[in-house]
Amino acid sequence: MTLDAHVPAGPIAGKWDRHKFEMKLVNPANKRKYTLIVVGTGLAGGAAAASLGELGYNVLNFCIQDSPRRAHSIAAQGGINAAKNYQNDGDSVYRLFYDTVKGGDYRSREANVYRLAQLSVNIIDQCVAQGVPFAREYGGLLDNRSFGGAQVSRTFYARGQTGQQLLLGAYQSLMRQVHEGHVRMFARREMLDLVVIDGRARGIVCRNLTTGEIERYASDAVILATGGYGTVYYLSTNAVNSNVTASWRAHRRGALFANPCYTQIHPTCIPVSGDHQSKLTLMSESLRNDGRVWVPKKKGDTRPPDQIPEADRDYYLERKYPSFGNLVPRDVASRNAKHVCDDGRGVGDSGLAVYLDFADAIQRLGVETIREKYGNLFHMYKKITDEDAYKVPMRIYPAIHYTMGGLWVDYNLMSNVPGLHVLGEANFSDHGANRLGASALMQGLADGYFVIPYTIGHYLASATLPKVTVDHPAFAEAVNCTQQRINQLLAVKGKRGIREIHRELGRIMWDNVGMSRSEASLRAALAAIPRLRDEFWHDVSVPGTPDNLNQSLEYAGRVADYLEFAELLTLDALQRSESCGGHFREESQTPDGEALRDDANFSYVAAWEFTGVGSAPVLHKEPLEFDEVHPTQRSYK
Ligand SMILES: Cc1cc2nc3c(=O)[nH]c(=O)nc-3n(C[C@H](O)[C@H](O)[C@H](O)COP(=O)(O)OP(=O)(O)OC[C@H]3O[C@@H](n4cnc5c(N)ncnc54)[C@H](O)[C@@H]3O)c2cc1C
Repeated sequence: MTLDAHVPAGPIAGKWDRHKFEMKLVNPANKRKYTLIVVGTGLAGGAAAASLGELGYNVLNFCIQDSPRRAHSIAAQGGINAAKNYQNDGDSVYRLFYDTVKGGDYRSREANVYRLAQLSVNIIDQCVAQGVPFAREYGGLLDNRSFGGAQVSRTFYARGQTGQQLLLGAYQSLMRQVHEGHVRMFARREMLDLVVIDGRARGIVCRNLTTGEIERYASDAVILATGGYGTVYYLSTNAVNSNVTASWRAHRRGALFANPCYTQIHPTCIPVSGDHQSKLTLMSESLRNDGRVWVPKKKGDTRPPDQIPEADRDYYLERKYPSFGNLVPRDVASRNAKHVCDDGRGVGDSGLAVYLDFADAIQRLGVETIREKYGNLFHMYKKITDEDAYKVPMRIYPAIHYTMGGLWVDYNLMSNVPGLHVLGEANFSDHGANRLGASALMQGLADGYFVIPYTIGHYLASATLPKVTVDHPAFAEAVNCTQQRINQLLAVKGKRGIREIHRELGRIMWDNVGMSRSEASLRAALAAIPRLRDEFWHDVSVPGTPDNLNQSLEYAGRVADYLEFAELLTLDALQRSESCGGHFREESQTPDGEALRDDANFSYVAAWEFTGVGSAPVLHKEPLEFDEVHPTQRSYK
């Protein structure tokens, strides 16, 4: 198989404009004749469904929650990047492009990233027009703050609730289309299979999560916007029902999975407090604008923070990276937190935490300014830890947060299965081996509002799409597969809880395929995962019946998929014996402990083909070329 990314020719700045002109169009009067399935109602799916509805397509939109408004995107806190340069501090489309390629450690596709930077400015206009209440400065202009990996302020925000406000904007637009009759909403539906007919994606099979009924939907194209797979680690900052199921089932039907080992560990999360937890809580990266990260200089220093004098503190990020300081990218900040904790200088009861201290900022700006900027985050921190971060430093530690890998897509966001398009966190497209903060919302909305409305038209106008209905035998086969898997899950009738097995999988992944990875740890995980999968299928307990609301059954299906997917993630990490971005191989580091890439051997996207559970997947490589930003050793010093 040759992977063709279909990147348009010509200078990078003109590629997208030229491509938009060269792509075929669907006549306005013909759009309603096409049915499009959009799975997902987060920022990517919600924006896509609303925009495609507005264009006049007949859109079927699915989500697992009871309302599209409850998609995981609602949790996003800190902000969304855009190269508006309102601050006049030297930003530009090119600089955002450059920062993103460098931030991703030169493992992303340049053309996609450039388009993302270009579209970032349109997103802000669109959202303002929808009424998204971005923070403003006194004079009325939209305010900006800084996020990691950038030396300009380009992050637009709505307090610490940016995702919620953006999602409400997309949701309003979506509901307008529902009202107009262009979008039909299917809440509480879980996509469990992709239907491929004559090599093209032509529909999906879902379980109605309320009635248990298995439903079939036919379409002319399928768009997946089903989010990331961070919960394969069990504990993460993601919503607990985030999952890999839709992507994995599409993968089983032929869609290639790209760079699954690129997972992002966020440096500022509330540390794990015990076995009772089912998720972790992020403290937004925006806090690093004003919070200073430090640990005691001395190992095992148990004095309370206010009794540790300045001379005994190590502001290690400011010390090691003077030009970016506390705003180094996430992978760098996370690894350094791990180093100081491994060195015995971590704080708190577990020793697995570092301080994020606002004392200086409060003294400089006043407590009210800090409250205005981050009030809801401080409030959340207090509710969880019972500590007042206005008075004592926050304790933070890295946790799994985002996944850069995902289904492989070309420049048009189409997977290798014609007709199957993938948007937002579910695709692999723009962030390389490390995503910069505030760039996920940007990508999801760029994909949904501004890319897919063009590229889907090109696909529909170029393809021959004979009418298919849900009576086609391919639907019967997919329903059969889905039903069989459900029956198998319920038939095990073992003793082990689903959560217990998921937690064990998470432990294997975090310990062996987490913040740092070695050949030995990866091989250990590759031995442990199939054993656990086997145990799951022999001893899991899934109570209840299939024909009604059964959240255990839903959960079991997702964990079963994770038990297959985890092996692919680990295998990908093993084959990539270089370090890059969030993928840190202990064997490949610079003398001062930074990630050491191996461009000669690994400058490619690893796209994996499914060949069966427990059978070796086939690796396809899309070579990466850098015409604009020459790969160098990333430095934030
Ligand atoms: C705590 C937190 C804070 C964050 N803050 C920021 C931030 O400040 N800035 C930033 O840029 N990024 C941030 N991120 C990342 C960002 O929120 C996500 O990457 C982004 O929202 C993902 O959007 P999405 O539309 O791709 O997917 P999601 O929002 O995850 O939506 C997935 C959709 O797919 C549906 N779905 C999933 N599986 C199925 C299935 N099988 N069948 C049917 N439907 C399905 C779900 O119901 C949902 O509607 C944050 C992430 C976290 C965890």
